[in-house]
Amino acid sequence: MMSIGSRKFVVVSIIVVVLLLANAGAIVGWLYSVGVIPLAEHIRSEYVTGTAIAITVALLILLPGRAVWAICVRHCPVCDCLLLRRGKYCGECGSRV
Ligand SMILES: [Zn+2]
Repeated sequence: MMSIGSRKFVVVSIIVVVLLLANAGAIVGWLYSVGVIPLAEHIRSEYVTGTAIAITVALLILLPGRAVWAICVRHCPVCDCLLLRRGKYCGECGSRV
């Protein structure tokens, strides 16, 4: 059973998506005029080369998902929650990490 709040959220997000789709052309034109798309194209041609994409894909395939995740965040070995603070003890279960 969904609460009224989440129903409202679903309805509003559907309306927003429909409006965005209906105005997709205008939004793309606006992004062009603002300079976002030319900037993105510049970044892509300068930095996101075929080599960079190949290296990224290779890393994602070679490393297990867990390892990629572990580079960014630490997990508690006991309860597996995210360790947001740097410290010796888990904030959720209090075990030493
Ligand atoms: Zn824990």
